[in-house]
Amino acid sequence: MTGGEPRADGRSPVPVRPDLTALTGYHSPQVPVEVRLNTNESPLPPPPGWLEDLRRELGDVEFNRYPDRDARELRAALGELHGVQGDRVFCANGSNEVLQCLLLAYGGAGRSVALFEPTYALHRHIASLTATEVASAWRAADHSLDLDTVARLLERHRPVITFLCSPNNPTGRAEPPEVVERVLELAPGLVVVDEAYGQFAPFSALDLLGRGPGHDRLVVVRTFSKTWSMAACRLGYLVAEPAVVDACASVALPYHLDAVKQVAGRLALRYVDAMEERVALITEERGRLAAALADMEVESWPSDANFILFRPTRRGATEVWRDLLDDSVLVRDCSTWPGLDECLRVTVGTPAENDRFLAALGRALGHGAMGSSDRRVT
Ligand code: PMP
Repeated sequence: MTGGEPRADGRSPVPVRPDLTALTGYHSPQVPVEVRLNTNESPLPPPPGWLEDLRRELGDVEFNRYPDRDARELRAALGELHGVQGDRVFCANGSNEVLQCLLLAYGGAGRSVALFEPTYALHRHIASLTATEVASAWRAADHSLDLDTVARLLERHRPVITFLCSPNNPTGRAEPPEVVERVLELAPGLVVVDEAYGQFAPFSALDLLGRGPGHDRLVVVRTFSKTWSMAACRLGYLVAEPAVVDACASVALPYHLDAVKQVAGRLALRYVDAMEERVALITEERGRLAAALADMEVESWPSDANFILFRPTRRGATEVWRDLLDDSVLVRDCSTWPGLDECLRVTVGTPAENDRFLAALGRALGHGAMGSSDRRVT
């Protein structure tokens, strides 16, 4: 066997860290389907003008040289977008890598983080990868945060990071400002608000940055993967105090952010209006999907994001998931995730994709073709 080839039996030739065997991955199958509604990306490509700008500016990239290690132009542009200096912005290869840097810098053996299930699985997963203890509590039945439960958990574990996810993946609701404020009061360490879907929500914790006591412990994480239609680029960032930015930079690999990505991200920010138009379209479609689901044999939860969590009431989730796949519609099967028995999550797609989903779901639930009567012409 040559270096890098996996063994036929899938086992490592040398034992991996023992704790890794206990960690299951978080992957959605990447199967070829006509309607992909499983990973919450934007269903629309970026604006054509962005691609033209990018092609033009790539001519100026010195490909034989390492990129700007500090990504200064990109960070300054993001700072401008959020009304802060670039030294309060840290960028990485997707917001997952931002989270990993936070955990490398602040987590580790003998330290703990707090989170509230069900929530984004990677918070727990990356914490475990970095040998950070995870203290968790359940959300209330409607998936909101019960502040007494939060207080008890934080008091008992004194976590170095408290994760909020707003809107929460996969349940959908954003945390109201008063909840974020209260968690900031209760938490002894950083409060990391993962806003991967922040632009779809009525409120952003970015508005709280630097606003009051304890707010220097607030960290807001965002991504280009969703509203900016740039999941393939792998670019995410956080906005926080400069000291938090420095801590993350100190654990990132040198030159981790390639030059193409730095240019791509900076140019995207010229297209805020186009991005907001997409958000408006998806938000409208979310309303249409939610209304259609309300007439079907499913329980569904309100969403402030670009996806909806639902539970078929008369058939098993995995059976329904499989029938949808047979119709070339891929959604996320969350039925084995903590607290999400028999749940599926659908990403809001284009109007045509949403029609396909609703028709396929109607068939899977035995309703006949539903949902296309209110068809939106694009
Ligand atoms: N946070 C949340 C809540 C997410 O749902 C995702 C993507 N599924 C991410 C972070 C990571 O996104 P990316 O690494 O593409 O920026």
